[in-house]
Amino acid sequence: MKLILLGPPGAGKGTQCKRIIEKYGMIHMSSGDILRAERKANSDLGQKAQSYMDSGALVPDDLIIDMMIKAIKEAPASGYVLDGFPRTVAQGDGLDAALANAGEKIDAIVNLQVPNEAIISRMTGRRCCPVCGAVYHIENLKPKTEGQCDKGCGELVQRPDDTPEVVANRLKIYDEQTAAVVGYYQEKGNVILDIDANQEIDKVTADVFEKLDALKG
Ligand code: ADP
Ligand code: AMP
Repeated sequence: MKLILLGPPGAGKGTQCKRIIEKYGMIHMSSGDILRAERKANSDLGQKAQSYMDSGALVPDDLIIDMMIKAIKEAPASGYVLDGFPRTVAQGDGLDAALANAGEKIDAIVNLQVPNEAIISRMTGRRCCPVCGAVYHIENLKPKTEGQCDKGCGELVQRPDDTPEVVANRLKIYDEQTAAVVGYYQEKGNVILDIDANQEIDKVTADVFEKLDALKG
């Protein structure tokens, strides 16, 4: 299956993606994770992306489209779940053109719906493992030992863009530039699976699985 997971920052895209790929066997392609890896490697792309990411702004479309199309071309036949991409209508157009060229299409869009009020505490309470990428929450998904990754990697960290000021900017940018992507796919007639993501993590997963199972038939 080839899926796109849409939803505001902090909606639970990464959390649900990990569970989707475990059950259905595709790969997880997170534009944010790829950009963070580029930054860690101090690549040209990583350096260009840095100031945008730190302020919560979007990295320019041309850089993101090139980066994601390259990743998609290298994906295995089992498919992928796109997380955090496309984030603008121009990125949707770029993705569509590349897929059409390759004679491929997206099977469904999973649309995680959460009101902004619920999101702020999710993002400011998020803690990540810089080694294995596991994501926790100080209240909703606690590690077994406070501040430590369950897999023995060491200390958890807070993403620098998860501070209240940057979170506010990211939500504003989501409303201004990314929310329209759902309508873009609706107009194109894509299958959209709306999910109430303002529920416990396991309940959201159960709802996602139910809809994906029905889609697979
Ligand atoms: P995204 O990838 O959409 O930015 P994450 O999956 O990283 O979001 O989730 C953001 C934070 O919210 C994480 O700390 C995660 O543990 C927590 N979280 C995810 N889903 C839920 C949920 N349904 N209810 C409460 N907290 C959640
Ligand atoms: P995320 O991990 O998805 O929350 O993304 C972290 C940051 O990476 C965002 O705030 C943006 O600065 C940048 N980013 C990730 N994906 C995209 C994208 N599709 N388009 C533009 N910027 C992106």
